[in-house]
Amino acid sequence: MYSNSLIELDRAHLIHPVASYRGHEKLGVRVLASAKGATVTDASGRQLIDGFAGLWCVNAGYGQETIVEAAAKQMRELSYATAYFGLGSEPAIRLASELAERAPGNLNHVYFTLGGSDAVDSTIRFIRYYWTARGEPQRDQFISVEQGYHGSSTVGAGLTALPAFHTGFGIPFDWQHKIPSHYAYRNPVGDDPQAIIAASLTALRRKVEEIGPERVAAFYAEPIQGSGGVLVPPRGWMKAMRELCRDLGILFVADEVITGFGRTGPLFASTENEIVPDFITTAKGLTSGYVPMGAVFMADHIYQTIADGAGASAVGHGYTYSAHPVSAAVGLEVLRLYENGLLENGVKAGARLMEGLGSLRDHPLVGDVRGRGMLAAIELVVDKAQKTPLPAAAEPARRIFDRAWENGLVIRAFANGVLGYAPPLCCSETEIDAIIERTRQSLDETL
Ligand code: PLP
Repeated sequence: MYSNSLIELDRAHLIHPVASYRGHEKLGVRVLASAKGATVTDASGRQLIDGFAGLWCVNAGYGQETIVEAAAKQMRELSYATAYFGLGSEPAIRLASELAERAPGNLNHVYFTLGGSDAVDSTIRFIRYYWTARGEPQRDQFISVEQGYHGSSTVGAGLTALPAFHTGFGIPFDWQHKIPSHYAYRNPVGDDPQAIIAASLTALRRKVEEIGPERVAAFYAEPIQGSGGVLVPPRGWMKAMRELCRDLGILFVADEVITGFGRTGPLFASTENEIVPDFITTAKGLTSGYVPMGAVFMADHIYQTIADGAGASAVGHGYTYSAHPVSAAVGLEVLRLYENGLLENGVKAGARLMEGLGSLRDHPLVGDVRGRGMLAAIELVVDKAQKTPLPAAAEPARRIFDRAWENGLVIRAFANGVLGYAPPLCCSETEIDAIIERTRQSLDETL
């Protein structure tokens, strides 16, 4: 058993992110003690396969010695260096350069943050600065997609379209607008890919018209909507939306905080979608969760406009920990591991994961199976023909999470009856098969 005192200390002092505080007080914390590869061990010694890679971030797997060594070496040599005042550190410069080399098209400029929310937040500031520098400061309206998630910073939460991130906070988001999601399983236009793409194009065109074309700054989209329930758009959706944004004269931001760094196969989902956005936001897999870091990729034309606009003045945007040398050293080693086999293994493991989850379609509770690579979900229903969602969805989803935990599997149970999967890319075939078997067992036990 866990130490009771730890549970009590947690209850008394630790505020958990995105949690029902009262619900958490009642249930108490589950403490993780150690981890290696794709396996986590809790404080009572129970071993579980981490089918969600922490919070879809530990892409390289836990306890990779070379990453630990890279961090330790950097801490010994230079544990901190500011990137203010014209200073810098070798790992940060090298990581920016290695990343720019691999990023699509002209995304040659990298701004390091501490995670995904401040990466998104940074793009909002950069975009406003860009339009002001272009003499169009009235372009202050932003558009994103229903069911999208773009972090929970004070400003960026406006782009997030999940009600919990707005309700109760009283922060006005009248500058942000939404178009319907491409969500194929429950789309009013049906599941035909071309019809879904056409509907999204029409919705964006109309939204821009409604706001006033001269007012719109940018459109944000995730290559796969993660926190909304792993909603995979039809092939061609990102490309069509990107091209429309260019036609409409608004900027296009691909939020790759989840999809970046091998989650769907390549380093950037934008590459497989054959697009060059104006910005890409990343975090999570960038350092594989070993230390916090995010990165904003900025296209040449944006960088040049901002630089010219500011002239000799400082662009007043930065954090003490921007371009942290320890995070950058970790990022460099993680990148090396991705390219020395991890991405390849992720592609193989991803195909097996999708096939395995597909085999659950015959289960009475499984309404939909979707995903790409090592990013997937199953959506639970009570009636497959009618696609009836589970009643009071949060409860059964929670029960399945508990059953899975007992069966040695960590998954994510979304409140809307969706189970999310994002295992580390290092998973073996046996581990992938165990994820599927343990899911089936947990579903059977929940029936
Ligand atoms: N953008 C997307 C697409 C995300 O999925 C997330 C987090 O899950 C964020 C932004 C925010 O990132 P962070 O939690 O690192 O602040």
